[in-house]
Amino acid sequence: MNPEASLAPHAAHSALSRGRLFEEAPPNARSEFQRDRDRIIHCTAFRRLEYKTQVFVNHEGDLFRTRLTHSIEVAQIARSIARNLQLNEDLVEAISLAHDLGHTPFGHAGQDALNDCMEAHGGFEHNLQSLRVVDKLEQRYGAFDGLNLMFETREGILKHCSLTNAKKLGDIGQRFIQRLQPSLEAQVANLADEIAYNNHDVDDGLRSGLLTLEQMNQIDFYATHSREVELLFPGLSGRRAINETVRRMINALITDLIQTSQQRILDARLQSVDDVRNAPPLIAFSDGMARQAALLKRFLRENLYRHYLVNRMTAKARRIVAELYACFSAEPTLLPPDYQAAPANSQQQARAIADYIAGMTDRYAIREHRRLFLVDEGHL
Ligand code: MG
Repeated sequence: MNPEASLAPHAAHSALSRGRLFEEAPPNARSEFQRDRDRIIHCTAFRRLEYKTQVFVNHEGDLFRTRLTHSIEVAQIARSIARNLQLNEDLVEAISLAHDLGHTPFGHAGQDALNDCMEAHGGFEHNLQSLRVVDKLEQRYGAFDGLNLMFETREGILKHCSLTNAKKLGDIGQRFIQRLQPSLEAQVANLADEIAYNNHDVDDGLRSGLLTLEQMNQIDFYATHSREVELLFPGLSGRRAINETVRRMINALITDLIQTSQQRILDARLQSVDDVRNAPPLIAFSDGMARQAALLKRFLRENLYRHYLVNRMTAKARRIVAELYACFSAEPTLLPPDYQAAPANSQQQARAIADYIAGMTDRYAIREHRRLFLVDEGHL
């Protein structure tokens, strides 16, 4: 049975794909996009997501999201949306599971620090790094570097890209130059990411005590669903009340996204994936819901991401990444042999250092920093 037979004509179909960089025999008992998803799950960078974080650092608590659980939540949300819109679930799952593979340790603090360090050498963008991981850095197959994923999976992974970098990327960078849209599956994965992190940051923020219920109830979106929970379960409090509220928020966002996108897809009279590329973005929230989501995002930025305790961790993270980079640049012989570029070329050497640092988990970066900077016994 063809697992893609029930997809909409404007969904991504394996048979119409732009294919892989290196030609391979078709898979036996699965679709091409299932094969991509499976390759991503088995790669090293995917396992590292378990010890990388976005807001909280891994050792701060066992119950906070990591990039691994975040990616799984994104895949769950994206698949629900894709199924309702008759889009390719396997492709949205592959994109979702791979979307954060290129992140440095310590979330955005790490990425900003590494970008500063790499200023003279082309900078550092985590989206571009995710693509670099699946195209080059994973070394698992005899015939090629990377995972040799389908064009549409790679395109979905490269969510943003500067024009300068797009020009160096060949066909995968074209859409940024021509201002075209990616597949609907890529658009779904992108918004599923946003739904996942806004809601789990509320949940983790409350769990950590950095956000209070009093603050949350000043946000209309939270207050509306929290009141509904109170009506249904009078007196319910603590984690159960928060969970009932957050699940309603996620559900409202997903439902709105499906309905709005369904209508936009109908209105656009799509015949094919090429029509999708030439249309405006079709996967979208209604205006009202987009406003609610933006308010929630702004609230999180002001109250959680810039909380003084988060700022302290962010400052430490930036320092660790900057010091690791400076140390390896000054003395490349301290790098593990795989990362010592030969023949020595300062551009390549800088990129190899960035690859090494970007691949580190939070705890590995902390340990490596200790090994390089502390001279007491036991830190070799
Ligand atoms: Mg993400």
